[in-house]
Amino acid sequence: MGEPIIYHIDVNSAFLSWEASYRINQLGDSLDLRDIPSAVGGSEEQRHGIVLAKSTAAKRFGVRTGEPLVKARQKCPELVVVPPNFDLYVRNSRAFMDLLREYAPSVEPFSIDEAFCDMTGTELLYGSPVEFAHTLKDMISSKLGFTVNIGISNNKFLAKTASDFEKPDKVHTLFLSEMRDKFWPLPIGDLLYAGRSSLKTFQHLGIKTIGDLAASDRQLIMSHLGKHGGQLWDYANGLDHDTVTVHEASNKGYGNSQTIPFDITDRATALRFLLSLSETVGSRIRADSAHISTISVSLVDYEFHHSSRQMTLSSTTNLTETIYHSACTLFDQLWDGTPIRQLGVHTSHATDTAYEQYDLFNLQRSEKLTRLNAAVDSIRTRYGEDSLKRACFVGSDESHMSGGLNKAKRNTREVPS
Ligand SMILES: [Mg+2]
Repeated sequence: MGEPIIYHIDVNSAFLSWEASYRINQLGDSLDLRDIPSAVGGSEEQRHGIVLAKSTAAKRFGVRTGEPLVKARQKCPELVVVPPNFDLYVRNSRAFMDLLREYAPSVEPFSIDEAFCDMTGTELLYGSPVEFAHTLKDMISSKLGFTVNIGISNNKFLAKTASDFEKPDKVHTLFLSEMRDKFWPLPIGDLLYAGRSSLKTFQHLGIKTIGDLAASDRQLIMSHLGKHGGQLWDYANGLDHDTVTVHEASNKGYGNSQTIPFDITDRATALRFLLSLSETVGSRIRADSAHISTISVSLVDYEFHHSSRQMTLSSTTNLTETIYHSACTLFDQLWDGTPIRQLGVHTSHATDTAYEQYDLFNLQRSEKLTRLNAAVDSIRTRYGEDSLKRACFVGSDESHMSGGLNKAKRNTREVPS
């Protein structure tokens, strides 16, 4: 077998295109949000109303992802803003990943709208990997109604870099043999995972391009930036040994993560997000009449560093409260105060038989909670997820069930103001 062939597939303006195709195909709208200056944005009454995604037309006005809606409107008064709809994103994401799994031997979802596919050895099946990427890209567009960029390389890092080249609806290659022409001349600011502080250091060291970093001394970079610096140096040299990992089948575990529309810097807010995630995870486990015994929390900080921690419980559970409290414990062990971009709660080792460590106090408490959770589930099934909220979410714009299953009602029409 020759060099590995990796695809990184990234949905173009995911939240916006998913919303646009939903409005056209499901609601019969004639207007395509992708053709006008538009954005998906958090609630404007809230301090945290920011642009989560934008159309190409909005980009031409200088509208940027992550900036306050107020500022975006100053640049583009006719901007059409639609509210986020996380359930729609989860549905689209599933359809996207499922389609990839039909064609790629292994698929690793990287975020809600990105995945790595290991295509090594598929030449006999599909022919040239570059040609097949075009076929796959067009298939996604015609079957699912949205466009993607596909980056092709010999490893994950370079493939992801390539998918970020010119957008939308493009296939790009960045093979190891192409680094000199396509990668090294790029400004150092284009290097993935190089955060603000790293870039400041590079500036002091006179490193202007990715090639400058590649040609620098690894030890020197590490003396300034530690292990992360060494990693960045490796990336600049096209070195990445991370393999495409297929996660366990979904019926073995239940998890949910959410990219937060602002950086979380305080514990209380983080815990509310964990509760919201635990609610959804718990309800999914219970909907399958399953129990789990391993819980983990994952965290992505504002510089896109990933970290996670897990624990095994002495008893199986499907209780929101137990999942949440374990998640809090893990979170406190994990978090060092760095601003947080994304939080996840995951569970695994699902079984359909429950076992409980014998403990009289806990047994009574957990029987009570089991009845409570069952009652909450049945009310939500009949009257919708929003029919019952925990008190801490009342009056808040934060979702009390992140990435929920069946949120029926939502506001799809919003007029530009
Ligand atoms: Mg994307």
